[in-house]
Amino acid sequence: MNRVIGIDLGTTFSCVAHLTPDGPKVIPNLEGMATTPSMVCLTSSGEILVGNLAARQALTNPDKTIFAIKRLIGHKYNSSAVEEAKRRLTYDLTEAPNGDVMIRVGDQTVTPQEASSHILNYLKRCAESYFGEPVTECVITVPAHFDDHQRQATKDAARIAGLEVLRVINEPTAASLAYGLNRNPDGLVAVYDLGGGTFDITLLEISGGVFHVLATAGDNYLGGEDFDQRIIDRLRADFQSKHGIDLGSNPYNLQRLKEAAERAKRDLSFTSETEINLPFIASDDSGSKHLQVSITRSNLEEWTRDLVERTLPLMDKVLHESNLAADKVDEILLVGGQTRMPLVRKKVEEFFGKTPNTQINPDESVALGAAIQSGILEGNGTKDIILLLDVTSMSLGIETEKGFFEKVIDKNMTIPCRKTKAFTTVENNQRRVRIHVLQGEGLRAAENTSLAMFDLVGIMDAAAGVPQIDVTFEINADGMVKVSARDVLSGREQKIIVQSSSGLSKQQVDGIIAREKHRAD
Ligand code: AMP
Repeated sequence: MNRVIGIDLGTTFSCVAHLTPDGPKVIPNLEGMATTPSMVCLTSSGEILVGNLAARQALTNPDKTIFAIKRLIGHKYNSSAVEEAKRRLTYDLTEAPNGDVMIRVGDQTVTPQEASSHILNYLKRCAESYFGEPVTECVITVPAHFDDHQRQATKDAARIAGLEVLRVINEPTAASLAYGLNRNPDGLVAVYDLGGGTFDITLLEISGGVFHVLATAGDNYLGGEDFDQRIIDRLRADFQSKHGIDLGSNPYNLQRLKEAAERAKRDLSFTSETEINLPFIASDDSGSKHLQVSITRSNLEEWTRDLVERTLPLMDKVLHESNLAADKVDEILLVGGQTRMPLVRKKVEEFFGKTPNTQINPDESVALGAAIQSGILEGNGTKDIILLLDVTSMSLGIETEKGFFEKVIDKNMTIPCRKTKAFTTVENNQRRVRIHVLQGEGLRAAENTSLAMFDLVGIMDAAAGVPQIDVTFEINADGMVKVSARDVLSGREQKIIVQSSSGLSKQQVDGIIAREKHRAD
């Protein structure tokens, strides 16, 4: 039997786990730690450092240390997500010929998929060293709000790392599995997942081993890194006004600030005041300058309150979509390291009128849930006690006349699913229609994510509005989409299936795999 591992590929930390007869267990990394920093350093000598090794030298190599890759994966260079990411990264980004974002390190460029693959390959090696045998299959988690491009790109990263992805599952759903196994927690559960880069809120009904997701909502650009950034912005502004020097113009200083801000933020979850001390951070004609400030928990809360409050309307949204009131929720699970912040806990408690459950480990529960799913796929008996019914987090449809978006599958539909909707032509004897596949909730096509575009040709001559073009959407259990279109009138079935993909073609992925193999040999 092949071993299947469960992987949580996080924005800031990643974790790998497997299912044992006693339940899911985290596999320690090569240094014996439960989680691994999601960092990769491409050194000038061509060496690739991953995890703690990369994190430890980030200060001296800020422009070669790649972090927060999850904020880039599956995005176009010109997207607002990349614009925002650029502001805070210490490494360079560039545009690929197909418009995707790429990472530039010295004279090398790598795709976010390749960069992520180094982390996944490291986790694979951790598992292999733990089991003493090769591991080639995994279940991988993604934020519930990842669109099709981001899911596909994550799968490509795994393939480059030498891992076949048997299932992609949503992070909050995975956490609920980890919570639910062996607890028989029948009732309504809300999973509040605030990690390093993303926020998801998911509402599930658990009953007799069936985990039924009712609704999910989230924000792919809200996470712990935004909290760090608020501290960085504040320290930069204060230093600038005091000394007239912008610390952000130097990547080394930015990296020092970033590490200090994150550490201070963590400390302030457990203490009411902390100090940031960065000696010799700058100098001018008058000599060396040091940064030494004291930050209180209430300072941090004041600077980041709006970030925490941004999660509240999303919680309202899932309750509304499930026709439920907040007090009907039986259990609230906190997932993601940022939920350790007392203000986050307080706001969640106020919202639901109930103390959140803190029994699950916010750093490990997603990987543990992925391990449970991998046990189900390994066929080790878990299948008989758990049934997972997840939903699609975004609506899917096509562009119609005048740039409007017509939904075919509504968000929160249980997956896997398949739905067909009939469309028609707008001109007499129109022989071709363009099918532009979109994902999102905007009324206009331009407000949504474009997944794919294809033409259905050879439509039989007929007056406008007469042909019936059936457009069928299919979403598999990984939340990935296939679309086909058929001209019913012609009788000649013409079917085109489009599987949207990240910017990498199969040939490109194969090419990268061959190159990595060559490098390893
Ligand atoms: P995750 O993606 O779940 O690994 O979450 C990582 C995020 O949690 C990072 O932004 C960390 O800075 C943040 N985090 C970890 N521990 C704490 C803590 N004690 N207080 C506040 N944030 C934390």
